Amino acid sequence: MDDLTQPPLPATNPFPAHCLSGAVRQDWTRDEVEALFDLPLPDLIFHAQRIHRQHFDPREVQISTLLSIKTGGCPEDCTYCPQSAHYHTSVKAGRLMDVAAVVDEARAAKAAGASRFCMGAAWRSPKDRDLDHVCAMVERVRALGLETCATLGMLTAEQAARLRNAGLDYYNHNLDTSAEFYGEIISTRTYQDRLDTLECVRAAGVRVCCGGIVGMGEGRRDRVGLIATLASLPAHPESVPINLLVRVEGTPLAAEEAFDPLEFVRTIAVARIAMPASMVRLSAGREDMSEETQALCFLAGANSIFYGPKLLTTPNPKRGRDVELMEKLGLMPMR
Ligand code: SF4
Repeated sequence: MDDLTQPPLPATNPFPAHCLSGAVRQDWTRDEVEALFDLPLPDLIFHAQRIHRQHFDPREVQISTLLSIKTGGCPEDCTYCPQSAHYHTSVKAGRLMDVAAVVDEARAAKAAGASRFCMGAAWRSPKDRDLDHVCAMVERVRALGLETCATLGMLTAEQAARLRNAGLDYYNHNLDTSAEFYGEIISTRTYQDRLDTLECVRAAGVRVCCGGIVGMGEGRRDRVGLIATLASLPAHPESVPINLLVRVEGTPLAAEEAFDPLEFVRTIAVARIAMPASMVRLSAGREDMSEETQALCFLAGANSIFYGPKLLTTPNPKRGRDVELMEKLGLMPMR
């Protein structure tokens, strides 16, 4: 019988075997990532699943819950975001939540099966007095036995160190798309600003959660650029959220065309192969995804989801629906 753990490369595959070895490497080129995207879908999913199994138990899915601790009124102009003050959406700006209220939400998330609790604030960057409150939240959420994650905008090295000292496990800061397409999506900060914050987070010893959004009108070359950039950072992000654009009324991307689900699956598979030891997270956009698309994403190497009825301000599948899907697929929460 053939050894299915080491299949021969398909005859159509022109690129070097090291791309499909499952080894963690930071020297990915755009051409290599593009060649992965170009593989026939069955080959791509086969290799993604094979590599996934080298690093993870394929039945386990890491569960995160995301809470908006400060909603709306953001000075940034991200064209996908209903929390930007530049656009007229149904999101109402609120103040930073009380520490005790955040801890209550974290306790409920843990009871519902989450192992990581992410706190998101709609800021360009946190003010130092706000960071005092966020550090208190991090300390108390961590004391519940949850991993902690925050997404607060751009950080200085000092702010990243303060969060690390409070016990922050992960910091989320997405690159969103390729460097070339970034200016089409956001004008109030640069790609380099994002990379600088990622460097501060890494230098502080906080693990990195960094991914992007597909379906914003970018081309495949931009998805290639995003993944090639992530996979050639000095260390791969430990978590790689891949979001599908949620087209929110009032934002400039509200009328964007629906994105091809199979291209979304390809993006997940390429992320899995290029960053084989990272958690690849199915993030925003699951509410509108069929069970079949989500199943293909798990097959392509996704092994993390956001769980709970809301993702910051946009809808997410109800908990019961996720439990049912995981049961149907024979998946279980990662311990
Ligand atoms: S994505 Fe974040 S930074 Fe951009 S507008 Fe929304 S809350 Fe602000």
